[in-house]
Amino acid sequence: MRYPQTFIDDLKRQADIVRVVQDYVQLKKKGANWMACCPFHKEKTPSFSVSPAKEIFYCFGCHKGGSVFNFVMEMERVSFPDAIKLVAEKSGVPLPKLIDDSRFEARRHESEDVIELNKWALEWWEQQLDSSGEARIARDYLLRREITEETCKTFRLGYAPDSWEALSIYLRQKGASQDQIDRSGLVVKKDEGGSYDRFRGRLIFPVMDIQGKPIAFGGRTLRDEDAKYINSPETAAYIKGRNLFGLNLTRDEIRRAGFAILVEGFLDLIVPYQFGVRNVVASLGTALTPEQVKLVSRFARKVVVNYDGDNAGVQAAKKAIEILLAEDLEVKILVLPDNSDPDEFIRKSGASEYQRQRGEAQPHIQFVIDQAVRDRKLSNPADKEAAIDEVLPYIRAVHSRIQKREYFDIAMDSLRIGDAALRRELWHSIRTGIGGGAQVAQTAFKRAQVKPTVAEIQLLELLLDDEIVRRMILPKLAPADYEDLPTASIFKAIIAIESEGAELDFSSLSQKLDGDDAAFELLPRLLMADLRSPDEEKREDPGLAAEKCLDAVRLINIDLRIRELIAEIGDAERAGDEAKLVRLSAEYSGLDRLRKSFEPQSQIAQAENA
Ligand SMILES: [Zn+2]
Repeated sequence: MRYPQTFIDDLKRQADIVRVVQDYVQLKKKGANWMACCPFHKEKTPSFSVSPAKEIFYCFGCHKGGSVFNFVMEMERVSFPDAIKLVAEKSGVPLPKLIDDSRFEARRHESEDVIELNKWALEWWEQQLDSSGEARIARDYLLRREITEETCKTFRLGYAPDSWEALSIYLRQKGASQDQIDRSGLVVKKDEGGSYDRFRGRLIFPVMDIQGKPIAFGGRTLRDEDAKYINSPETAAYIKGRNLFGLNLTRDEIRRAGFAILVEGFLDLIVPYQFGVRNVVASLGTALTPEQVKLVSRFARKVVVNYDGDNAGVQAAKKAIEILLAEDLEVKILVLPDNSDPDEFIRKSGASEYQRQRGEAQPHIQFVIDQAVRDRKLSNPADKEAAIDEVLPYIRAVHSRIQKREYFDIAMDSLRIGDAALRRELWHSIRTGIGGGAQVAQTAFKRAQVKPTVAEIQLLELLLDDEIVRRMILPKLAPADYEDLPTASIFKAIIAIESEGAELDFSSLSQKLDGDDAAFELLPRLLMADLRSPDEEKREDPGLAAEKCLDAVRLINIDLRIRELIAEIGDAERAGDEAKLVRLSAEYSGLDRLRKSFEPQSQIAQAENA
């Protein structure tokens, strides 16, 4: 599904980027731009800037930048189409109809129906909790749990009356059809036909999606029934294991804190939240899923698992560790004293004691080792072997090689494995047991190598900033000058736009990058470069500066090729390929001469400038 490009362009022009950003951060005007402390990284002095003229934002600290849509995508963690929708809403621009395929349309329709009915039900349940006489039992329960009225309102808790049909009747009055009610999950269908209300005489906890729409409910018994909690079934709006309870309220705090605390139940989140611990999400009973981990990893790469300390809780925590490590998150484990759950502990000992405990949470490997040696004697070889077997998978699952080695050493020491040969063997099994371990390191190495050089960055900044520089330099640029650079796509984009005679700006450039993400990320920084040297007097002539940069870039290219040639010549020598050797040697001496000719030239250029 896509919006027409013309609509997106129009919307960007109509949506004032300053006004949209202003909704999230307090901007102060500074010259032609607006500045603020960056919402994407911690800082005390503002390095986040918005340029209304260029219709972009850029942070000089963490280098995030882009259009108004990129900003909303980053802030709200939504997809591009959703960002367009949000920007349009904020700017009061009506959306054109999307072209969808019909099945998708039908499913979305049904999901919207379920959410609509959920909204009605929730409003009604909230009202019941607030004022019905029957709901006293729920209000008393909340009072005993020290949950304030404000917290009830924040989490939109409700009370479902003890009736087989009160909600169904209410929904029909609101205009819902029986078919809609049947598909909503709010009722249970009877075998003999007809249906009855699913939630009866229960305290209601709504589960919201990340935008805060009610997609499902949990109902807690208030009468010691067998089922302490009952939950919504899967519907068109709700698939189990795809959501995290509370994330709609806690995501900003998670981003700010840089980590999320993962708990199990509704109250394990609600009570800490009320006490001011707000970077929490709850996995809600079911085992943690990879989808849930992906969801939380959009806001932080570190997770503190704070499950119950009983055996079931420990097993659940170990499962969670595996899933979290598989998604390359850093994991710590918090086990509270006396096996209490977060809800109990915070009410008893307070938030600051909780935070202190949290600060002492163990790295996952320590927790796993503790569990492995708990009921075993390490002096007994069989026990020792079993403990090693239990621990190794959690080391193998760690992505970073350095960290893996670190955890490995910790584990070996804790399990008292002193024998060097055994250690080597175990390390080998860990290294080979994982898929593509060496490849991961290789790609990381390669990535580190292809960072753009200072010279090409400066050259691009000057080209983008100054039309005269473009007229001077572009005719001199040969494809060989930039083809092998990591910023090649930006050079190509500038040349293409200039030859078309089109406007050179963020929008036209980003459209020509052909999905080169690294280049796209670099663009705002390049475009905003003029901010960095406000002192006009000290700036050297941009044309001259660009010439120097171009020389430097050419020199870098020559050096690269020379290094390649030396390796190729070595290969040819070993292979005894005479013809190739002659050809490569000729190229080498040519480049070497060329390289020498550069040096006096750039010295002359510097002398003239001084
Ligand atoms: Zn920043």
